[in-house]
Amino acid sequence: MSEPATDQGQISLSELFFQPEELQKRVEALGGRAFHARILREQVLKNGVLNYADMTALSARLRDGFAQEHPILSCTEISRIVAEDGTTKLLLRLPGAADKEDTVETVHIPSHRRDADAGATLCVSTQVGCAVACPFCASGRLGLRRNLEAHEILEQYLMGRAMGKLSRSVVMGIGEPMHNYKNTLAALRVVHEELGMGARKITVSSVGFPDRLRAAAQDKPPFQLAISLHTPFDEERDELVPAMKGIPIEDVLAAGDDWFGVTGREVTYEYVLLGGTNDTHAHAHTLAQRLHGRRCTVNLIPYNPVAGMGYARPRGEDVEAFKESLIEQGLVATVRWSRGLEQDAACGQLRLRS
Ligand code: SAH
Repeated sequence: MSEPATDQGQISLSELFFQPEELQKRVEALGGRAFHARILREQVLKNGVLNYADMTALSARLRDGFAQEHPILSCTEISRIVAEDGTTKLLLRLPGAADKEDTVETVHIPSHRRDADAGATLCVSTQVGCAVACPFCASGRLGLRRNLEAHEILEQYLMGRAMGKLSRSVVMGIGEPMHNYKNTLAALRVVHEELGMGARKITVSSVGFPDRLRAAAQDKPPFQLAISLHTPFDEERDELVPAMKGIPIEDVLAAGDDWFGVTGREVTYEYVLLGGTNDTHAHAHTLAQRLHGRRCTVNLIPYNPVAGMGYARPRGEDVEAFKESLIEQGLVATVRWSRGLEQDAACGQLRLRS
């Protein structure tokens, strides 16, 4: 698919895209001119070319020089799982990783629709591990190792696009995007402006730190927001989302309202249904009360069990009843059943197993 990734110390072309002056210097050092830097950028970002050999608009000297010094991508694919429905999960090794734990996952999910042009949804990661440590989620189990660089986030899109046209993306892989906001925003600006993905087609999911959300809204970022709520009860949320301990749900909802006010884009509230834990009638009733009058959607996610974490998949009828209860109480609610790869699908599970 692409040329080999960086050796230790080599800087990839994707990284140079975030340092335009440096890119230009390197082009000039190989006898190129400023517009050649623009061509390199367009070839990769606009046209999806991942081999220098295919960049025939450039001189052989420039192509060969870059090929030797600057691999296009710095991440390498170390394994790939393809489910029957075509959902494909890539496990990626990050540049310079000595440790097998320095891996992240990207999932390419083809559309259900028959229309071949419908494109796929890409689920991307923003961190190696996660500091939020939700007790049901595989991603936080090993703690946080490091933030991804902007180009490492962008590379997931470049590799994902090489597997088939992308129409949407969700930043719902490993990591808490608001803990790595600067790099996430820098990557998504390129995805929006140069890969051409509409802001309403990109969703960033966060546990919802109110101050960070308010600051982010001021950037007019090119994405929609999803907030992982998981329960309408404060004490239970302190347990389910430990990094939010002590922050009242009311403050999170108020930050969601402000997000809508500033960006004009409705918030989605995500709710992982954990069988026998937060899928009761009382939860649905109280959730609806708390969200009453807000323009938002509730996205119910039936839990995909992770071995050893002590939480269960909800029963199908309880999922339906929860959804119906929200709808009866005037909310917009959808259920997101996980696609393909059932055994290893949830965030961070492939990484834990490798
Ligand atoms: N840290 C961010 C984004 C990553 S996860 C966040 O928490 O929103 C995206 C969503 O998947 C979150 O709502 C998360 O709680 C949920 N999730 C994590 N593990 C899951 C699992 N095993 N089954 C179903 N959903 C899961």
